[in-house]
Amino acid sequence: MLLTGSVVADSSTVVEDGAVVVDGSRIEAVGERATIREQYPEHEVDSYDVLIPGLVGGHVHSVQSLGRGIADDTELLDWLFDYVLPMEASLDAEQMEIAATLGYLELVESGTTTCIDHLSVAHADAAFEAAGEMGIRGLLGKVLMDQRSPEGLLEDTDAALAETERLIQTYHGAFDDRIRYAVTPRFAVSCSEECLRGARELADAYDGVRIHTHASENRSEIATVEEDTGMRNVEWLDEVGLTGEDVVLAHCVWTDEREREILAETGTHVTYCPSSNMKLASGIAPIAEYVDRGINVALGNDGPPCNNTLDPFTEMRQASLLQKVDSLDPTATPAQHVFDMATVNGARAAGFEKLGALREGWRADIVGIRTDVTRATPLHDVLSHLVFAAHGDDVQFTMVDGEVLQRDGEVVVADADEIRRRANAVGLDLDEYREDARQIGP
Ligand SMILES: [Zn+2]
Repeated sequence: MLLTGSVVADSSTVVEDGAVVVDGSRIEAVGERATIREQYPEHEVDSYDVLIPGLVGGHVHSVQSLGRGIADDTELLDWLFDYVLPMEASLDAEQMEIAATLGYLELVESGTTTCIDHLSVAHADAAFEAAGEMGIRGLLGKVLMDQRSPEGLLEDTDAALAETERLIQTYHGAFDDRIRYAVTPRFAVSCSEECLRGARELADAYDGVRIHTHASENRSEIATVEEDTGMRNVEWLDEVGLTGEDVVLAHCVWTDEREREILAETGTHVTYCPSSNMKLASGIAPIAEYVDRGINVALGNDGPPCNNTLDPFTEMRQASLLQKVDSLDPTATPAQHVFDMATVNGARAAGFEKLGALREGWRADIVGIRTDVTRATPLHDVLSHLVFAAHGDDVQFTMVDGEVLQRDGEVVVADADEIRRRANAVGLDLDEYREDARQIGP
């Protein structure tokens, strides 16, 4: 297949009148349209205004998609214990599959081709199967919770780790290696030391398995961890082995000097979730400083109940604006840095090599965007447009591993109307689990 358009190969390389040739799951060539057309005269041509690397959602909760709008105007721990944990506890396997499918649909529709996805405690198989079916690329993991967790989610430590191992053996490298596993403790508050150390052992036992958890998102959370362990949150994670080049920590809003040193020294990846941090009033992560220290920063939407959209373009815009207003410096976190976070940096965090840019021999994860819209007129600078003005509904084409998931603005791998109908038909009932969760919450 030969795709033409203005090619944004990476944050510093734009070919105005360009083309990308896809052969199987890989990119065969990238260059000027006229030259490429001459070299590949037989190829079927598909044209879009702008072609970019598929975007990487560095932290998402697909299975929370049914909870969009149920928990506005609340802070993290109340949000979690009053709404989100009772919801997760209440979902059966079919509802979990519906929730995950809805999440993956929104991601694919709006240009995210790889996600680092924090599932729930139960029914993880349903989400793995849904991701495989949708064709999205992902680093997924069942959540671990073995302390301070409500009925329906609290697990025995050994059973939680054994179930994780079964899922690794079943799904790590599944669906032509589009799906890989991340061992996923929810956060230090809800995991014992034995559980956290067990997570590290499992990641070490299986090649390519990574670790994904939340860290230092909110001040009550770090106070709870400090009470439990006598340490700062990131120091504690480092102590039990949950830092390193195979670890993705979502948020890292409240870190001190020593914790920042640990993140940099260990090569731990940080996912910045600006919309979620603003909506839950968690705080502002020191992202410009992380970048200066050489810490790899990815970008994530977090979940629909704390965002409330999975649009990666909105997230890119927020990512830059929040750093600018925080520092009162308009040069902070420019478009180029943000585009890197949403592409190559996210790919590094997820651990997929040759991903996140349009280059010869790299994975064919490609997104096509329309710019025949008022907000793209005039189009002086395509990178500026992508970060500050574009929307997820400008996405017309989504390809993962050379497979077309969306064409001409229509998802072709799934029946989007049917997915929305099924999601609307799920009646959430949180009451059964809410009382118990409220009593356990810090
Ligand atoms: Zn999260």
